[in-house]
Amino acid sequence: MKYYDTHAHFNDEKFNGIVEEELQKCFDTGVDKINIIGYNTESSKKAIELSNLYKQLYAIIGVHPSDVGLSTPEEIEELYNKYNNGKIVAIGEIGLDYYWVSDNKEEQKALFIAQIDLANKLKLPIVVHTRDASLDTYEILKNHPAEYGTLLHCFSPTDDLVRLAIERGYYVAFGGNITYNRAKSFQGYMDRIPVEQIVIETDSPYLPPEPLRGTLNTSKNLPIILEKLAYWKHMSVEEIGEIVYNNSLRFFKLDK
Ligand SMILES: [Zn+2]
Repeated sequence: MKYYDTHAHFNDEKFNGIVEEELQKCFDTGVDKINIIGYNTESSKKAIELSNLYKQLYAIIGVHPSDVGLSTPEEIEELYNKYNNGKIVAIGEIGLDYYWVSDNKEEQKALFIAQIDLANKLKLPIVVHTRDASLDTYEILKNHPAEYGTLLHCFSPTDDLVRLAIERGYYVAFGGNITYNRAKSFQGYMDRIPVEQIVIETDSPYLPPEPLRGTLNTSKNLPIILEKLAYWKHMSVEEIGEIVYNNSLRFFKLDK
């Protein structure tokens, strides 16, 4: 079985000094593609550097809503122009996060929209982070569509977002959160989301799946997530594994 981790932060400082051995464990598990996601200018640059070192790694560059004011879309565009190595597959993670800070909503929205514009200009899809902001996320995605594809990362289904994802053909990425107890409420949504629009991710080093909570999460844990997804979608692990792998190739235009 081959696995594609569509969202991992091996550019996080938690991996300083151990990135090589941790990546090797992932490759040994059958993970043959990993997207390294930036959250500001520096981590985006590191994502590109890692993608230069390993053929299995791809880079996604962008400014996370929590870094509003610290990095700019102009810096991300500059990175793209300066270092584009043919392995930058999306703009992300971008979006809205009102969980940590909610007194800068207008700045977050402007940053999100500017990066959708950048993705459209560079002909790249977007990877969206949304937390406690589903209504504003919905509004922005509806009014400022990403022309080359939208992937909702760390997807916790809500009525608005599930409807929008289905209507617009957005892809959704499920990670460790579907193994948690609270995911019991997902079933009704899971039945509605077409399997052709689903990919998997770890959000490494965060969000380790059950029963590994409290440990360093890496792409080697994808089999646990896939097994849970198979359960939710009433399919065999092999069958859904092949589908989500191919979905990932299609979304990031790596078909071959
Ligand atoms: Zn992330």
